[in-house]
Amino acid sequence: MARARGIICQACGVEAPVKYVEFRQNIGALVMRFSKEVKGNLCKSCVHSHFWSMTLINLSIGWLGYISIVLAPGFSIINIIQYLGALGLEKVPPGARVPVLTADAMQKLNPFAQEPINRLESNEELSDVARDIAARAQVTPGQVVKFVVELAARLRAQGQVPMAAAAQSTGGFPVVMPPNQMVMPPSDVQEPDAGYIVDVPRPEDVPNAQSPKR
Ligand SMILES: [Zn+2]
Repeated sequence: MARARGIICQACGVEAPVKYVEFRQNIGALVMRFSKEVKGNLCKSCVHSHFWSMTLINLSIGWLGYISIVLAPGFSIINIIQYLGALGLEKVPPGARVPVLTADAMQKLNPFAQEPINRLESNEELSDVARDIAARAQVTPGQVVKFVVELAARLRAQGQVPMAAAAQSTGGFPVVMPPNQMVMPPSDVQEPDAGYIVDVPRPEDVPNAQSPKR
């Protein structure tokens, strides 16, 4: 795919082309098993490293158990399909790094504080909004994403404190919102970072009455 929708890798945080993938890992331990999954928009480097580490575990110790012997090959096949689907993803550009909201970037973005909120409320994609504003504000799209997340956090905090106190607590971050948006539901803007937690280790007992509890 030529142009990924995401902007920031959800595993390493670097601003780079990303693709949504799901990888699964199983560790068989006879009557018990431990599974882990990684899902999210990952950059090519993270796709590569998670695919190989998790698939090699499936192939080596993944199948050691009654259920695992069925599950592990299935997980491996799913991982391979996901990996092949991500082969066309562009490489992480040289010099790509985790976007940082520098004072300079904040200064450039402050005039745009209202725009992303309005556009997200009309259900535009955050990545589209970020690319568009980034071009005009002369920052990177990743910095716009960070800015919006920060903005949303501050608005939520403001909703819980009196206006006067909130104005003082913004620490030089001018947030001017019409009153009707002060009670903006957090989910509206939280959406973009939903699923940012990637590793979900999950020890699972085999559904068997005789299996020992850990
Ligand atoms: Zn990454």
